[in-house]
Amino acid sequence: MLTLGGFDPGSTRPPSAAEEAAFEAARTRMVRDQIAARGIKDDRVLGAMARVPRHEFVPAAQRSLAYEDGPLPIGHGQTISQPYIVAFMTAALDPQPTDRVLEVGTGSGYQAAVLSQLVAVVYSLEIVEPLARRAEADLKRLGFRNVRVRPGDGNLGWPGAAPFDAVIVTCAPERIPKALVDQLKVGGRMIVPVGPNGGAQELYLLRKHPEGLETQAVLPVRFVPMVAPKVLDP
Ligand code: SAH
Repeated sequence: MLTLGGFDPGSTRPPSAAEEAAFEAARTRMVRDQIAARGIKDDRVLGAMARVPRHEFVPAAQRSLAYEDGPLPIGHGQTISQPYIVAFMTAALDPQPTDRVLEVGTGSGYQAAVLSQLVAVVYSLEIVEPLARRAEADLKRLGFRNVRVRPGDGNLGWPGAAPFDAVIVTCAPERIPKALVDQLKVGGRMIVPVGPNGGAQELYLLRKHPEGLETQAVLPVRFVPMVAPKVLDP
């Protein structure tokens, strides 16, 4: 296991100044070795990834692994995505400073925090209510003021805040929910992993043109499934 500045992996206490410096150095290496080295050149995206403290979005027991090259568990059977995937999806959306963006699958709030550095406002939906509450609290504590989090089902989108310039889906539906396409502006972009639970999924980049949707498969991926809400108790 990687040890960062003597950081105690199970600790729940806030990191010391020396630990923060070690995290920052690890984050710089992450951006160079995992993201830039794999071809992501967008300086805005690299800058956002270099700024957002990923270790603040993972459980204390995972903090020493926060800048490793993979996903990590965040509780409730869910994961924070691999840093490279976060950067890839962010770059693919071509985020603009005036954009209003919808995220489906808040999880830890990390992807929302990264995007929030590059756009006007991020609306993020999370179906697991305790995750939504925790992400909302973490984002607030860390000063990410242009992210709104709501517990809810991403299959329905966020009609009250639509239309969006961009939509990012961080869980995998088997088919793209119609509401999300409807809530995308003409000229808008959507990045979404599509495919069966645990099977071959493909990341799609969609562009909405006046004459219809342009669809491009951009990367094979593996995401947790996008679930439908339980409407009846078992
Ligand atoms: N973007 C997250 C990673 C998310 S993992 C991050 O940066 O940490 C995918 C998340 O999608 C999980 O938290 C899961 O609970 C959520 N999810 C699954 N189905 C959903 C749905 N129908 N609506 C909203 N969120 C959903």
